[in-house]
Amino acid sequence: MPNVTVITGGDLPPCPHCDRRLAFLVRFTFPDGTAELHLCRTCDTGATAGGRLLATMELPDDIRPADLFKEFTLAWMHEGLAAQGWQYIPRNDLPD
Ligand SMILES: [Zn+2]
Repeated sequence: MPNVTVITGGDLPPCPHCDRRLAFLVRFTFPDGTAELHLCRTCDTGATAGGRLLATMELPDDIRPADLFKEFTLAWMHEGLAAQGWQYIPRNDLPD
């Protein structure tokens, strides 16, 4: 199981594609390598997993559907890791 680091707020680096500040970054450290997923408000828009996650993140806390937020986060992770040649295999035995 990889070590997962979530970076938010002031510690976010610029987007590697457009150089604007990222909305969210997740870093996975595997025994044989590292993968980073970047979520950018400029580059990740539209009908992608990242676009759906951004739209959900921007909803007020009191109306953000927790189940959709989790579903879109997992879809974004799956999509991003697959694009980098990794396979995300969720474990159902972990607590939420
Ligand atoms: Zn960008």
